[in-house]
Amino acid sequence: MKIENKNWIKSFKKPFILSGPCSAETKEQVLQTAFQIDKSHIEVFRAGIWKPRTRPGGFEGVGEKGLSWLEEAKKQTGLKIAIEVATKEHIEIALKYDIDIFWIGARTTANSFMIEEIGDTLKNTDKIVLIKNPMHPSLDAWKGALERLALKEIKNLGFIHRGFANLPKTSYRNHPFWELALQIKKEYPSIPMICDISHICGNRDNLFEVANQAFDFGYEGLMVETHFDPENAWSDAKQQVLPSELLDFLKKRQKPI
Ligand code: PEP
Ligand code: MN
Repeated sequence: MKIENKNWIKSFKKPFILSGPCSAETKEQVLQTAFQIDKSHIEVFRAGIWKPRTRPGGFEGVGEKGLSWLEEAKKQTGLKIAIEVATKEHIEIALKYDIDIFWIGARTTANSFMIEEIGDTLKNTDKIVLIKNPMHPSLDAWKGALERLALKEIKNLGFIHRGFANLPKTSYRNHPFWELALQIKKEYPSIPMICDISHICGNRDNLFEVANQAFDFGYEGLMVETHFDPENAWSDAKQQVLPSELLDFLKKRQKPI
């Protein structure tokens, strides 16, 4: 099908970077991390409010109160704000706050009922909606979610490659499948392609190597989890870095994007 997508990414610096903690934990953590993000390179602050957890019993996010911390961070820093949404209720609550970008997580993308519901709830807004790849490497499921949202007249779309759950285990937390994302880009060139290096790697070791690889493949942006105190993060502590480490990488990167 034909997808008409607005060129929303041109209003952001190149490369387009979303960065911030895996989860909003406390007001202080949100504000401290946001203050450490240098707006001259990074314009979007990400944080999970409702956390999809594979097994019960873990930290499932702070919920609505975190949205007011993000609004405060936006007011104080001027960063735009991105959160994950998975249900109609999440969106209805989030629309009461000044949130700019919504992303759909890997556990949600393959569920056509949820995507329809998300599309119906966002259809009369002008929000940017980014769709992560599903957990399993299905081109149709990933493309299908983009197509469903396009059919709801959502015109500020993007897609995020966060790697795929894999058996047997490899050195990646979620193995990248570059060809799959490139195939979507080939079919829908107006939709920006972003790489979530944090969830692909699952650790800090080769995070920026993967970022360089993504840029070489033509990715227009990155999602990178950063935290002012990564080792003590309440979720995904192994893969988060300090905002300054991301900034150093971006500054050192000489190649034009
Ligand atoms: C996240 O971005 O924090 C997240 C939970 O991502 P994913 O859907 O890629 O697992
Ligand atoms: Mn995470």
